[in-house]
Amino acid sequence: MALNGMVGISNSSRYTHLAIRKAPAVLILIFLLLPGVFSHAAPGNHPSKTAPSTMPSTNVILFIGDGMDEHQITMARNYLYGADGAFAMEQMPVRSSVQVHTLREDNPNQFRYVADSANTASTLATGLLTSKGRISTSAVKNINQETILEAAQKKSYRTGLVSTASLTDATPAAFATHTSHRNCRTTKNMSVINRSVGKTQQCALDLKSHGGSGSIAEQLATANIEVLLGGGMTPFNQPVENHDKGQPHILDMALNQGYLLINQAEELSITGYTSKLLGLFANKHLPVEWRGEKNQLAEKITTDNKGNAVFPTPFSCTTNPHHQGIPTLAQMTEQAIQLLSHNNQQGFFLMVEGASIDKQAHRRNPCGQIGELRAFDQAVAIGRQFAQQQPNTLIIVTADHGQAGQIVPLPESYQAASKAVHMAQYPAGHYAVLKTLSGELMAVNYATNSSPQGKWEMHTGTNVPAYMEGPGLDGVPALIDQRDINQLMRRHLKLH
Ligand SMILES: [Zn+2]
Repeated sequence: MALNGMVGISNSSRYTHLAIRKAPAVLILIFLLLPGVFSHAAPGNHPSKTAPSTMPSTNVILFIGDGMDEHQITMARNYLYGADGAFAMEQMPVRSSVQVHTLREDNPNQFRYVADSANTASTLATGLLTSKGRISTSAVKNINQETILEAAQKKSYRTGLVSTASLTDATPAAFATHTSHRNCRTTKNMSVINRSVGKTQQCALDLKSHGGSGSIAEQLATANIEVLLGGGMTPFNQPVENHDKGQPHILDMALNQGYLLINQAEELSITGYTSKLLGLFANKHLPVEWRGEKNQLAEKITTDNKGNAVFPTPFSCTTNPHHQGIPTLAQMTEQAIQLLSHNNQQGFFLMVEGASIDKQAHRRNPCGQIGELRAFDQAVAIGRQFAQQQPNTLIIVTADHGQAGQIVPLPESYQAASKAVHMAQYPAGHYAVLKTLSGELMAVNYATNSSPQGKWEMHTGTNVPAYMEGPGLDGVPALIDQRDINQLMRRHLKLH
């Protein structure tokens, strides 16, 4: 369904860890004290902070819960708030169900019914469909497709990307870079043949020396985005393609573009940053907030010597010690909004991704994904607070595709069925019984990959939700697709 068919849519302190790479401490201090360095005029293309205006700024915040379909939301909600609970995002006033479309690379006239984060984030970013693995390029022809972030920059909006993944991961990458495949993160290995895809999606096509746009990390470093917060120090430390002495590493490219680099959570809470900010808080993806007691994951059901199913012991979720010292998604979102909105008459586009709802579902880690969904919703709450003060802010919360976790019956139900048919009955795949915060039991399973060697669950092909709040949402249909979300955002920012 295309949005054009919609009826009634409005036209509408310390600085002890400052990690400036290879810069001596004295230079760091000089950098911080130089008044011109922090001038808004220098790094950004946004209007002067002294420009008089009585108009409220126009803002879009797009929250993407990776893999966050209704089943993953319900699992987390049941665990955290019980059967009658609700997340902050579920209290937003407008709600649609979103179809997820994926073209076949080998025949773009046909669809696949299971997507990945690359093609779906590309559609949210560009408003156009493409094939699996692609980063804002067209299927087969590999033509760059303009993203909403790029269009917003042309109209002098400030922009930001925040993620719990490496910033070179598919979702943030799709808003500001263009490659034939999500694996083209750095120049390393871009010349090596990727046997999982065909000729039209080889990263060699994207090398600058072959007329391409370069690696994802190189493109991000030069995309003039005011705020970049997430993981990914390792890819930013990779060499630049055909580098010169001035910028041997991709991080040098970013610093040469006027970024201040931080990598400690306490640096994030410092106010007054007015340069472009690059926060890289882990080498790859950020550690997740929660894990199972004793690191327990869902597991395969076995049978005893009498043929009865042996169900796993129920467990609760606990905090992950590896997350200590890592900023939360809510903290990163709050700082991004503060930087993007400060003295900004025009407005901003911000994308915030809760990346590891998906990554933990792949690993059959129910506590991991519940903790990440909780963290994502806390970030949404920060966005909603801002929108209360700045009513010309459109907030859309959605997911890119479905995941494998589902709520299934408790062991007692399988045991009763076993007695009835005199044969062991038990769930497929991997299974866990969680002791929820309200003391009830909830069983979940993951059953998209049962190979003994298969350590990785697959995505699923369900619709995903969209929760929306802000102006211009009258008449949004109950069923939309991901292109429509792009259209709603473009319309709000008047990018048509
Ligand atoms: Zn995934």
